[in-house]
Amino acid sequence: MSKSCLVVDDSKVIRKVARHILESMAFAVDEAADGQEALRFCRANRPDVILLDWNMPVMSGMEFLGAFNDLDFGHDERPRVVFCTTENSIDHIRAAIEAGADEYVMKPFDRETLEGKLQLVGVA
Ligand SMILES: [Mg+2]
Repeated sequence: MSKSCLVVDDSKVIRKVARHILESMAFAVDEAADGQEALRFCRANRPDVILLDWNMPVMSGMEFLGAFNDLDFGHDERPRVVFCTTENSIDHIRAAIEAGADEYVMKPFDRETLEGKLQLVGVA
């Protein structure tokens, strides 16, 4: 069965680029435009990995992580979380990792970079 990825980003362009890369790697892709949509999705589905934007309206990536950590995935493995940020700041990256992100990737990312990060978290 193919792996699944939830792409969470308020930018339609970023979601489209990420979808294109992920589908070329045979991932099944779902999209959410903010943290709240992503949370709703994760209450009903368990993607293998979540590509999570930092800055979003309604609910930011950090706010999503706070609520996501309270979700119960039962016997299933918790989805991996790869944080996407344009903030080239070690403090932001540290905060995301401390909040439960497994890895981070800087935007804009290409296929090679994203594939490397997905391998690091064990889903590619
Ligand atoms: Mg954004």
